[in-house]
Amino acid sequence: MLNKILMGVVIVILIGAFLPGIINHTHSYSWEIVQPANCTESGLRSGKCSCGKKITEIVDAIGHTTGPFQDNAHPTCTVCGENYESKGLTFALTQDASACIVAGFGTCADKNIVIPSTWQDKPVVAIAENAFSNPNYILYQIAIPDTIKTIGESAFKNCAWLQRVVFIGQSTLTTIPRYAFGYNGFLESINIPATVTKIDHCAFYNCQKLNNVVLPSVLQYIGDFAFSQCNSLRTITIPSSVTHIGYGAFSPCDRLEKVIFQDSTGWKITDRDYNQVKIQLSTPQQNAILLTDPYSYGGCILDKK
Ligand SMILES: [Zn+2]
Ligand SMILES: [Zn+2]
Repeated sequence: MLNKILMGVVIVILIGAFLPGIINHTHSYSWEIVQPANCTESGLRSGKCSCGKKITEIVDAIGHTTGPFQDNAHPTCTVCGENYESKGLTFALTQDASACIVAGFGTCADKNIVIPSTWQDKPVVAIAENAFSNPNYILYQIAIPDTIKTIGESAFKNCAWLQRVVFIGQSTLTTIPRYAFGYNGFLESINIPATVTKIDHCAFYNCQKLNNVVLPSVLQYIGDFAFSQCNSLRTITIPSSVTHIGYGAFSPCDRLEKVIFQDSTGWKITDRDYNQVKIQLSTPQQNAILLTDPYSYGGCILDKK
């Protein structure tokens, strides 16, 4: 009996001596990679503490790495070379539920977004109005797949950080709608799809850095103020397909020196009240309006007779 009591006391003392040490000990692991994570697959690491405790942990996939987007090309990861698409964007179904519309950033945190061409096995055919219009979201580049047939008004309006817009593949887009890319102070480049026939009111209004714009050869309509305050534009070529250039379409554009008409014949030039305006449309050399005062030309509306 006495022995048992003594044994109990010894056990209590031993526990008392060592338990606090075990309880208070914060494990500090030195890690070893068992299997490295890559762009899409998670990895494993094992940790060992000085107390002897060993654990194994999953290491999250790194995600793809983005480089500068190239016109027409699907963005590829600079590490693994794979084509990739952004995750976490929000979508809505079209009315007949046969396709879907990308509606916003959702939980996506990519600074360079590649809009997926399908969502839940349905083609992504449209971008909703105002979908990406948020000056607080840091978005540098966006790639738009060629499944997109329509873009909503103001879809990318006021994207304060946006520098580059890339249409991928064989886009069939026909309209750049009102304010679609307006107020994008850092937008430098966009490859306007070759199928676009209408660039609407204020589509690129106040894109201060936009330069080297190539207008598609089937373009017919350039809306009022479409490129107004694009102060990095120096020259613009108007394809012979164009039949309407709206009021202030290229005005004021502080650095614009030359508007080159592929076909300078047959234009009727009016002011905002549709009074006939006398302006020298073509120069002998190159069917160009040479702009000494961008405001004088800007107040005109040009229509093919
Ligand atoms: Zn430990
Ligand atoms: Zn990758």
